[in-house]
Amino acid sequence: MRDAKTRILIVEDEKDIRRFVRMALEDAGHEISEADTVRRGLIEAAARQPNLVVLDLGLPDADGIEFIRDFRGWSTCPIVVLSARSMEADKVQALDAGADDFLVKPFGVMELLARVRAQLRRLGQQGQAGDSCRQFGEICLDLARHMVERHGEPLHLTPIEYRLLAFLVSQPDRVITYRQLLKGVWGQAHSEDVHYVRVHMANLRKKIERNPAQPRHLLTEVGVGYRFVG
Ligand code: CA
Repeated sequence: MRDAKTRILIVEDEKDIRRFVRMALEDAGHEISEADTVRRGLIEAAARQPNLVVLDLGLPDADGIEFIRDFRGWSTCPIVVLSARSMEADKVQALDAGADDFLVKPFGVMELLARVRAQLRRLGQQGQAGDSCRQFGEICLDLARHMVERHGEPLHLTPIEYRLLAFLVSQPDRVITYRQLLKGVWGQAHSEDVHYVRVHMANLRKKIERNPAQPRHLLTEVGVGYRFVG
């Protein structure tokens, strides 16, 4: 990734925000292309094969979610959504459709760059799946042996807690919605029961986090779901 520039596509109809995002990402050394509608965004994405997309949800010709649905049909490239604070339902819908992260407007340049870096890092790590151990803080999760240890001492997780942890840890820096967790950990039948997730997450944090009230790894995305940070 250091040799070739990272290509980032910005799909945003507001000129000022587009310029702000472009300048920030160009300063960070990325190669930028732009589109101001869903239709042009998809054409641009197909032509340029970006490494990452920054996507506004409120676009003039269609909802940004339509971009995600179409794009996810042929690309796994990370999508960072730009959303207005009041549109929580849209945010969840965008993540469920396959977006990886979101930024709430108005956002700062440092926040934007941090989110983009996290997604690109995740992209870079995808190829290195040889080692089955995931180390974070004092915890080691061994996906091959289904073991979780703190400083070499085994932690006793229930099967659900283990699956919940493994599911989140396998997708670092991604916002995972309640629905995605329920589907991935419990299966389709429970896809509406958010309460399940909260209860088991509380128990999991007690075992994993040094201070469960202020988690460092299993973070809450209010009204949306969770994010694992290593
Ligand atoms: Ca807009």
